[in-house]
Amino acid sequence: MKTSHCTCGNRLFFENTLCIRCESETGLCPVCYFVSPLIPVGDGVYRCGHQDCGARVQKCRNFAVEMVCNGLAPLPDGEVNDWTLCPECRLTSIIPDLSIPGNRDKWRQIEIAKRRVLYTIHALGLPIGRPGNTIQPKLVFHFKADDAFPVYTGHANGVITININEADDVERERNRVAFGEPHRTLVGHFRHELGHYYWDMLVRGRCEGACRDLFGDERDPSYEDSKVRYYMYGPPADWQGRFISAYAAMHPWEDWAETFGAYLDMVAILDTASSLPGEQLRNIDCLKMLSAYQQVGILVNELNREMGIQDLVPELFSGNVIDKLTFVHRLIAKSSLV
Ligand SMILES: [Zn+2]
Ligand SMILES: [Zn+2]
Ligand SMILES: [Zn+2]
Ligand SMILES: [Zn+2]
Repeated sequence: MKTSHCTCGNRLFFENTLCIRCESETGLCPVCYFVSPLIPVGDGVYRCGHQDCGARVQKCRNFAVEMVCNGLAPLPDGEVNDWTLCPECRLTSIIPDLSIPGNRDKWRQIEIAKRRVLYTIHALGLPIGRPGNTIQPKLVFHFKADDAFPVYTGHANGVITININEADDVERERNRVAFGEPHRTLVGHFRHELGHYYWDMLVRGRCEGACRDLFGDERDPSYEDSKVRYYMYGPPADWQGRFISAYAAMHPWEDWAETFGAYLDMVAILDTASSLPGEQLRNIDCLKMLSAYQQVGILVNELNREMGIQDLVPELFSGNVIDKLTFVHRLIAKSSLV
């Protein structure tokens, strides 16, 4: 994502709640979608200070009270309501039990990852089913801890559930090694699960046949059978020639979600690192994007290796994978018609 600037000229980053130079408060404006300096106009009302935006806003309750968000809510007129949430926080309907030590910090990390990924979705112009609009399915987030029953990170009917233990670095790294995943991150979970959400929105009942031609038939073998087989035998030996990841070989739905997640990785990296802003990416050729991504990937992979950390772009893009990414790209380019 692009950084923005405070009125004092200092650079502002996506998670900032304060400009460290002039100490202005800052927040994510729901109108211009920049992290912007807040100009107080009294009684908890602010104006967005990004260039000529000037939107009238108030702080999200999760910003003002819970300190897990830096979002703002539009306030075109009227007075501040202490219970108002920003558009991103309105999508979260279950949060962890904050009386348990450590949960607030996990929640904060999860919300940061969520907002980052939704920023990319916004930059691509993908529709989101929200309270108050007519887009289906509605997108809802549940952030839950294991209790009597284990909580599985996943997606069903628009609801994305994240096990809050994924915000525990030790726990997540243990799982990452156990499942042989090059990347296991909070942003990665959101990108993958949003893949399932957008299959429902962009593919289901619209272009299932074309999707099957590339990703395989999701009905045969069934999801359950595929899962059992995958955990018993692992991916096929030649998976790298056909899939973006080993897990993508499990079932066509997982292939789609892994491919969609990798596509969002690419867009987020290009939006941040290059002169290709996210808003323009949906209109350019997918092969051009891949080539730009490859250039950034090679450079950053080498930098990471100099520091002994994992590659930024570990994936290999075989011809099959490029065809699948191109399919995702074309559907996104058409998605405003949904
Ligand atoms: Zn400043
Ligand atoms: Zn603004
Ligand atoms: Zn918020
Ligand atoms: Zn999945």
